[in-house]
Amino acid sequence: MDIHEYQAKELFRQAGIPVPPGEVATTPEEAEAIAARLGGKVVVKAQVHTGGRGKAGGVKLADSAAEAKEHASRILGMEINGLTVGKVLVTPAEDIASEAYVGVLIDRKSQAPIFMVSPEGGVDIEEVARVNPEAIRKVSIDPRYGLLPHQAYSMATFLYEDPALVKQATKVIGQLYRAFSANSCSLAEINPLIVTPAGEVKAIDAKVSIDESALFRLPEVEAFRDLDAEPASETKAREASLSFVKLDGDVGCCVNGAGLAMATMDLVKYYGGEPANFLDIGGSSNPDKVVAALEIITADPSVKSILFNIFGGITRCDDVANGIVTAMKRIDIQVPIVIRLTGTNEEEALEILKGAGFEAYTSMDAVVEKAVQLAASA
Ligand code: GDP
Ligand code: MN
Repeated sequence: MDIHEYQAKELFRQAGIPVPPGEVATTPEEAEAIAARLGGKVVVKAQVHTGGRGKAGGVKLADSAAEAKEHASRILGMEINGLTVGKVLVTPAEDIASEAYVGVLIDRKSQAPIFMVSPEGGVDIEEVARVNPEAIRKVSIDPRYGLLPHQAYSMATFLYEDPALVKQATKVIGQLYRAFSANSCSLAEINPLIVTPAGEVKAIDAKVSIDESALFRLPEVEAFRDLDAEPASETKAREASLSFVKLDGDVGCCVNGAGLAMATMDLVKYYGGEPANFLDIGGSSNPDKVVAALEIITADPSVKSILFNIFGGITRCDDVANGIVTAMKRIDIQVPIVIRLTGTNEEEALEILKGAGFEAYTSMDAVVEKAVQLAASA
């Protein structure tokens, strides 16, 4: 789960990281009032779950409260990487002498947290990674022992020469690791970590993603979830307890079981198609779940055919067939649907579906090939 910068900064503050104060506004007038309260120069910052806000015009310096209001009216409602800005953070503007990058994330390959630090932080860190990878140091952390003091110190010396800065950065790196592990993050990033002309090290941006599986034990973090900031399909899927991931293809997939869902997507690709989604309806034949699944799939305009692949075990195929028939009566679907059911009570299921006018199969190959053909010829 991604959280907003202002929320990530709250977690960083709790860990002791020096973070400037700030408040969130949803209207230009609120932004103006906050700027007036803070006094002096401020920064108005789009709060969206995506990076690159600065380059997209979503981070603006303002000399006065009136100017902050102007910036807020332009930034609120702006689209950045397909997401609409609903909130802005108003925070005192800092004078910047230098910008560094400090991040820690779970590295799938080494199955451990890995730090990445660079003295060349700021909006061009992706470019630094591409053209000048030596400017980024990576340090793998053994989760049994956590971040060791010498690791934090050596990363800090890679960022700064001045001992006073090294001392502050060593502390920040340790605090960042504490925030990362205490909140079960998959990513915690400060970019930029700035040095002010007065020689203070501060985090002026914060990006954090939380491992969804840990949210049950992190109620304060779960409360950060912003339903307005995530795609509607994801909210709907979570509310219906469906595992759903949107993809770029045109064959909508509705499958029971995560393993079968992945095998189905592989087979779609094998037959030359592209899956529009991963969707696991779980071990349920509850028609409400089938309706929710179909609503999510059909809301995606790129879907050109829908493929059901159900393996009946404890789940009975006739229950699923009834669920599909009920779902079809409730929603109007414009794209062709092909269905494969096999396992417990498959004969009854095929009867029900044929009676309702559906094309039903028992072979996985045949149904996937058909779904790919239908999508291609649409
Ligand atoms: P991002 O583009 O989404 O990563 O947003 P950031 O919060 O990192 O802001 C982008 C850039 O705006 C930073 O790298 C800074 O150069 C600049 N910026 C952000 N806040 C301030 C500030 O308080 N003072 C100054 N001078 N520049 C800032
Ligand atoms: Mn940034």
